[in-house]
Amino acid sequence: MKKIKKWATLLLAGVLAVCCAGCSGGNATSTQGESLKVVSTIFPGYDWLKNLMEGSGNTPTLMMKNGVDMHSFQPTAADIVSLSDADLFLYVGGTSDQWVEDALANAQNENMVAVDMMDVLDGRLLTETLVEGMQEEHDHDGEDHEGGYDEHVWLSIQNAEMVCAALCDALCEIDKDNANLYQSNLEAYTASLEQLDNDIAQTIQDAPLDTLLFGDRFPFTYMMADYDLKYYAAFPGCSAETEASFATISFLAGKLDELSLPAVLTIDGSDQSIARTIVENSNSKSAAILTLNSMQSVTDEDIESGVSYLSIMEENRAVLEQALS
Ligand SMILES: [Zn+2]
Repeated sequence: MKKIKKWATLLLAGVLAVCCAGCSGGNATSTQGESLKVVSTIFPGYDWLKNLMEGSGNTPTLMMKNGVDMHSFQPTAADIVSLSDADLFLYVGGTSDQWVEDALANAQNENMVAVDMMDVLDGRLLTETLVEGMQEEHDHDGEDHEGGYDEHVWLSIQNAEMVCAALCDALCEIDKDNANLYQSNLEAYTASLEQLDNDIAQTIQDAPLDTLLFGDRFPFTYMMADYDLKYYAAFPGCSAETEASFATISFLAGKLDELSLPAVLTIDGSDQSIARTIVENSNSKSAAILTLNSMQSVTDEDIESGVSYLSIMEENRAVLEQALS
């Protein structure tokens, strides 16, 4: 909420600076009768907004469609216009979103409320850490990849609850007439999130194992922290590395055997080649290869067929159950 307030203050200062004495149309009042432009950069935020706005007559827009990679996203002119006109703009706020700050500074809509997920989650942010056996990313571009906060904040359901509460405040601010609706939608949606969070915690508590092995990149820092799970992985975060070294493969194959794990995990959008190589190099040839969905490759088709944040997390619960038994 700090960011929202800071942004509103900046806007107010800007409006005051350029407005003549007779200017009175700049107040952020309700936009009753007009359609609200609500934009989320990524799928999870889009789906949260869809739930919060249900029954309001307005629907949110998703910017990064069809599984476009957040980490290498290049906005088109149409994307910049979409941001510029938005009444509410939701983004992650990590290193991949550096383009957003420039675009927001030049936005046309003076009354826009911008919600930065990582700002809302200030105090809960975690860094990408290298666990034993993880292959460090080679430095292709001279930038320092170490020590940054993990951007995949939506993979904690508790984070989702906090961002939804901030989004409800933002919606109420831009559309006061529907405030009661947004509040009751938030209550119902938060209850669903809490139920699923409890279900996953119970699944993990009941499971005989407590360690996961990813033959892949690893965007699940927040989920593992929520449920106190141990993990091994080939690469940290959404590293651009795709070639695992012999040392990485043999370390993970050894762990698969040592811990008698039933599965090697991959993430959505993976070609699973590293996971297959790990299984081939282990004595656990019957290990399954399962996908834990990080929601970074959701397609329009998926959305049309009803895939949601909750449905993906429920599938993830079932995958965790299988991978830990
Ligand atoms: Zn990622």
